Amino acid sequence: MTTIRYPESNDLRDLVRFCEKDGTIWLDESRMILMHTAALGALRKELLGTVGKEHTRRILTRMGYASGVRDAELAMRIRRDQPLQDAFVTGPQLHMLEGIVRVTPLHLKMDVDSGDFEGEFLWENSWEEDIHLKEFGRSDEPVCWSQIGYATGYTSTFMGRFILFKEVECVACGHNNCRIVGKPVEAWEDGEEHANYFQSDSMLKHLLELRHQVDYLRTTLTQQTQTPQLVGMSKGFKQAQELIGKASRTSVTVLLLGETGVGKERFARALHQGSERRQGPFVAVNCAALPHDLIESELFGVEKGAFTGAQATRMGKFERADGGTLFLDEVGELPLAAQAKLLRVLQEGEIERLGDDRTRKINIRLVAATNVDLSTTVKEGRFRSDLYYRLNVYPVKIPPLRDRVADIQPLVEAMLERFCTLHEKPLLGVSDKTLQAMKQYPWPGNVRELENMIERGVILAPQGGWIEVEHLFTHLGDAESWESSISSSGRLESSSTPGKCSESLLDSIIGTGISLDELEHALLTEAVGRSGGNLAGAARLLGITRPQLQYRLKRNSS
Ligand SMILES: [Zn+2]
Repeated sequence: MTTIRYPESNDLRDLVRFCEKDGTIWLDESRMILMHTAALGALRKELLGTVGKEHTRRILTRMGYASGVRDAELAMRIRRDQPLQDAFVTGPQLHMLEGIVRVTPLHLKMDVDSGDFEGEFLWENSWEEDIHLKEFGRSDEPVCWSQIGYATGYTSTFMGRFILFKEVECVACGHNNCRIVGKPVEAWEDGEEHANYFQSDSMLKHLLELRHQVDYLRTTLTQQTQTPQLVGMSKGFKQAQELIGKASRTSVTVLLLGETGVGKERFARALHQGSERRQGPFVAVNCAALPHDLIESELFGVEKGAFTGAQATRMGKFERADGGTLFLDEVGELPLAAQAKLLRVLQEGEIERLGDDRTRKINIRLVAATNVDLSTTVKEGRFRSDLYYRLNVYPVKIPPLRDRVADIQPLVEAMLERFCTLHEKPLLGVSDKTLQAMKQYPWPGNVRELENMIERGVILAPQGGWIEVEHLFTHLGDAESWESSISSSGRLESSSTPGKCSESLLDSIIGTGISLDELEHALLTEAVGRSGGNLAGAARLLGITRPQLQYRLKRNSS
């Protein structure tokens, strides 16, 4: 290999002129500037932070390319009469003069007419690698992006065809020097991929495309949160549903809080369905239902022979839920040893089967649920506080059914549809009195109790008829005592709650000896008086309609 010598560079140095009084610097006819590399480093950092690595690399590569093109035009003008190689190395010489990098040609074979080109150069003191190391430290990939752009722009202009340079070694990756190789783009196996960095690419276009995607995903998400799984319209329900919808777009661990039977598993399923994991498994485990000595093998799996009785190797629930969602109901019931293991899984993202020393990576979203106050069990020492904080990142409270009466009717309708189909029994629905009674009932068993009751009602009601109160509340005692606690308006009154007409009120009315008509007259007059003669207002005070009031006034005065 013959060493390539640079021609004398006085001709190039003479092109540099500092015109301080004009505030200009010139390289022949191109205006230049002296700039702090620290400033370019700040720009680089800013770009990486705002538009990311790919776009930053593209922008800097194209910036270098523009510079290379200018210098090639200059080289072809000032050294056009010199041997081809001397004319060509004007580029490396200018790159040095401009303070970018020290360039040593290692190999150069070129023919402008045929378009053949092979070049290899050593780079030392690269400003770009230097500033990158200072700002970001060691890199996995070469970082001299604008300089590669320059070499490519310079050579492509000089050769009249696209000659792609690649940095095959870079100081930022731990090499002693940066080393670059240039060939026609077609000669590179991954030429296309690298050529991309020389194409203009509008961020704005990408952003608009992304916005379309977000809009699309949002509509599909809304559709999913409206799946019939979750039914309700009360404020408390809507709030919980909204929180679940937001959580589904992330992979945050969710803690569902609420009494037994409020539908925590349904919310967990809805969360799974609305998430990117919907194609993956949904695995539900009730921690309270597992025997204590089997909990760990159930959750984390077991290797054959790990303990007496472990006759076969079995996957645990965590492994089964890999790629999907694991729902741990009544998580407060986990024994302390299992809590410690669960905490480790959440921290490390890996599990270890019982009797196995291998760890397995798992990718799950955990949804935990509890009907007890975990902060209390933490205080009592029955629940690890570190696990509690890990689970309590995104708590969602599902209110009891008695606090969301507005949900009863839509829930009943959805359940009727399901059970009438299941039991092949067409019904007219629930009677108004029944619905009213359901709205008054405290529902200690929440939605699950309502569901059981509706199913029973569907079975007990006559074919094609209505579900009546006695079809539903059969378990609350015999029919008579039940009937007696439903007032004439269909209002369900618990026997412990006194009615509105208290004993003492009735006593005092009866004690006056006033007749029923007189009492009614007095009440009507008082109500009309209190509402300033406004009949509609008076009717409201008495809990009747305006026509009913008018009728009673007329009857009473006649
Ligand atoms: Zn480099």
